[in-house]
Amino acid sequence: MRRTPSFLLATALAAVLSGGAAAQVASVDSYAGPTGAISQEKSRPAAPDWSGESGASGHPLMTSDAIRTAAADFPACLERLWPAAAKRGVTRNVFQHYTAGLTPDLRIMDLVDNQPEFTKSFWDYLDILVTPERIAKGREMLDKHRATFDAVERAYGVDRYVIAAIWGVETNYGTLAGERPVLRSTATLACIGRRQAYFRDEFLSTLEILQHGDVRPEKLVGSWAGAFGPTQFMPTAFKRFAVDFDKDGRRDVVDSMADLIASTANNLKKAGWTTGQTWGYEVVVPANFNFTLADHRHTMTIREWERHGIVRAGNNAFPRADDRAFLLIPAGVQGPGFLMLHNFRAIMKYNPAEAYALAIGHLSDRLRGGGAFVQSWPRYEKVLSRAERLELQELLSRHGYDVGEPDGRLGARTRAAIRDFQAKIGRVPDGFASAGILNQLRSR
Ligand code: CA
Repeated sequence: MRRTPSFLLATALAAVLSGGAAAQVASVDSYAGPTGAISQEKSRPAAPDWSGESGASGHPLMTSDAIRTAAADFPACLERLWPAAAKRGVTRNVFQHYTAGLTPDLRIMDLVDNQPEFTKSFWDYLDILVTPERIAKGREMLDKHRATFDAVERAYGVDRYVIAAIWGVETNYGTLAGERPVLRSTATLACIGRRQAYFRDEFLSTLEILQHGDVRPEKLVGSWAGAFGPTQFMPTAFKRFAVDFDKDGRRDVVDSMADLIASTANNLKKAGWTTGQTWGYEVVVPANFNFTLADHRHTMTIREWERHGIVRAGNNAFPRADDRAFLLIPAGVQGPGFLMLHNFRAIMKYNPAEAYALAIGHLSDRLRGGGAFVQSWPRYEKVLSRAERLELQELLSRHGYDVGEPDGRLGARTRAAIRDFQAKIGRVPDGFASAGILNQLRSR
C-alpha cells in the first residue's frame, strides 16, 4: 500500500510485543519495517520533543538551522500549497479548517534520519512477526470476518490468508497502527526536511480524504510517515486502491472491516496477484549449487530449478512445475532457501523488504494451517552492526568489487560483490555477509 520511500526502510521500527509493552528497534538493510514504521515512541509514556539536532543524513535540509527556518515558514508553506489543493477539489473551508493553527511535528525530523546502529537478522524478524499469538489471533480474525473474506475473495481473487497476514504483520491486527495525526505528519514532511517533494503529494492526498469524508478525521492517525489504518495505507495508496465494499458511500479503511479487507485485496490485485497461486516455497539448496543463480532478476520454471538440484523442503512435491520463480537465499548456504513465485513480488510491492514480505508469506501459510520452516537458520551468526556493514562495503570496494556508494545496506549489489569475493577465496559463494567474511576482507 505504501510505495515506501527508501529512507523509511532505513528507519522502520517494528513494534513487537502486543500491548505496547515494548517496541524493538529494527534497522534495515535490505529489510523494511512494517510500513507503518510503528514508531518507537509508542513504547514511551509521552512522545519526546525534537532533539534539536541536525539529521544524520547530512542533507542540507536536515541541519538544525534549516529545520528551524523551515518550521518558522510552516504556515506560509502550507498556504503556498493551497492552489494545488484547490485543483484537487479541496474547498477553501476544508483547507482552512484543517490547516489553520496547525503546527509542525518536529520530532519526525529525528525519525526521518534515524539510523539505528544495530540491525536484526532475517530470523529475528520472522521470530518477532510470526508468533503463536499472531497465528492464533489471525485465525480468530479470519473466523470472525469469514463472510467478508468470502465475498472479497470472490470479488478480487486474492487469498484471504495473505490479507490477514498483512494485517497481522503491519499492525498486529490493528492494535499497533500508530497515533500521529496523518495530516500533521504529512504537512510537516511536505514543508520541512529532505523529502518535501514526495510528501507534498501525501499531504494533498490526505486533504482529499478529509474533503471526501472517507475516514473520520480523528481516525486518520498512524505512523510518523503517514501510513494509517490496520493495513497501513499511505494517503496516495489509499487514493489508488481503497474501495467502498460495504457501499455506504465512504472508503473507510479504518473502521469498516469490509472496506479494509477489500481495499487491501484490491491493492494486491493491482500489484499483480495471481489467483490460485501461492507466494513461494521453502527449498533445500545443495552445497555445490551455482549460487550466482540466486538473484531476484533471474527467474526459471520450477522444473528448471529442480534440474539444478533444488528440492522442496519437507519432502513435499512442488504442485506446479511450470510456475516461474526466483531463488532467495537470505542467510547463505547454512540457512533455508526460498523459491519465490510472482505473488511474492506482489507482496514486495506492498512492503518492499524481503524479510517482511517473507514474514507475510509465512504467516499466511501458518494461518492456513501449514507448519514452521523445516530448515534452521544460522542463529550462531553474529549480525553485523551498521559500522561493520559500512566497513564491509568499503573493504569490498577497495578490493575492486562494485558495491556502489557504501550505505550500510546489504542489498543485491553488495550480495553479488560478496559472492565474487567468496568465489575468489574458494568459499561457497552464497553472498551472505557474515562476520567471517568481514574478517577475511580485513586480513587482506
Ligand atoms: Ca464504505
